[in-house]
Amino acid sequence: MFVNGCFWHGHDCHLFRLPATRTEWWRDKIEATKARDSAQCAALQNDGWRVGTIWECAMRGRSRIGLDEVAERCAIWLQGNDERLEVYGHKKGATV
Ligand SMILES: [Zn+2]
Repeated sequence: MFVNGCFWHGHDCHLFRLPATRTEWWRDKIEATKARDSAQCAALQNDGWRVGTIWECAMRGRSRIGLDEVAERCAIWLQGNDERLEVYGHKKGATV
């Protein structure tokens, strides 16, 4: 299970915004982190691990779904067979 900060891991949500200063440096840094996350997830799955990611926006900010909902989704995933879990906050315009 990973718990990712939305800024540091470049999540597509309201908690991520590329800084206005040293923008290229930050873009390179965040893109490298995203590439590393993707490679690590693929390597873990290749080794037979199931990979869960909980994004910061699920628990903090205006899109949060709350700890109880996060825990419930994790519990369902842990008891099931899906290889991958991602828990994130409400997307803009989403109804759930
Ligand atoms: Zn997020």
